[in-house]
Amino acid sequence: MTSVKRLTVLLLGYEIIPKTVSTRDRGARFVMAEPICAYLLETDRGYVLFDTGVNVENITDPGKRDAYFMSRGWLAPPIVLPEHDFLTQLAACGVAPEDIGDVILSHVHCDHTGNLKYLRHARIWIQRIEHEYAFSDHGNLAVFNDDFDFPDAKWHIVDGDWEMMPGLRGVFTRGHMPGHQSLVVTLPESGVKVLTADAGDLWENFEQEVIPGESCDDVAALASIRKLKSIAAETNAEMILLHDPVKVQSIRLCPDYYD
Ligand SMILES: [Zn+2]
Repeated sequence: MTSVKRLTVLLLGYEIIPKTVSTRDRGARFVMAEPICAYLLETDRGYVLFDTGVNVENITDPGKRDAYFMSRGWLAPPIVLPEHDFLTQLAACGVAPEDIGDVILSHVHCDHTGNLKYLRHARIWIQRIEHEYAFSDHGNLAVFNDDFDFPDAKWHIVDGDWEMMPGLRGVFTRGHMPGHQSLVVTLPESGVKVLTADAGDLWENFEQEVIPGESCDDVAALASIRKLKSIAAETNAEMILLHDPVKVQSIRLCPDYYD
């Protein structure tokens, strides 16, 4: 029994980062163009969005681009082509932001929170520890509080592994960030999909059990990689990665979908 009818992968741009950001101590000389994805779920209870991509305004506005990216040591701002635009991608699915009642955040890095500005009416589901971190004096150069610190934001706090509805569960995958979470989605025809988010950016992270470049807890980061692998093995699931530039080329992308 599943309440999820359809999963659509939105490709919302690319970020330009040293490979060491994704794979600890591996690939310092390599620069990656890694996709930024989000996931639209059509459910019995309406549309649910998992993560929201990057805020284009922080890239196109010269002052913001300098403040958020160049002065913070990024190699370059992310690349968002017109076809990667959040509203364009949603429209291709026949969905408007107002149709989305729930947003689940994997974590609060800027490439996941950027389009919450269009979703201020929605409930935002986040792990307690990640919410506390987001509003602490974190000093994290990849967390842009202006993208999510809205006085009217409807935060809904969860703790650990949880289930939003049959066929849609959140999995606590601490490591990359204090309260990182991933999703496990069961579809009527396509079976189980594990949406890893940043527990591992690249297939290499899972295949060779390499922890992310950035982690608040290395032991937990490795345990989270193994946790997702074992869920995938037990449920015969496909793992869909959010940042893998090779994998993204072989999955179904909006307007195509999994049902
Ligand atoms: Zn991240």
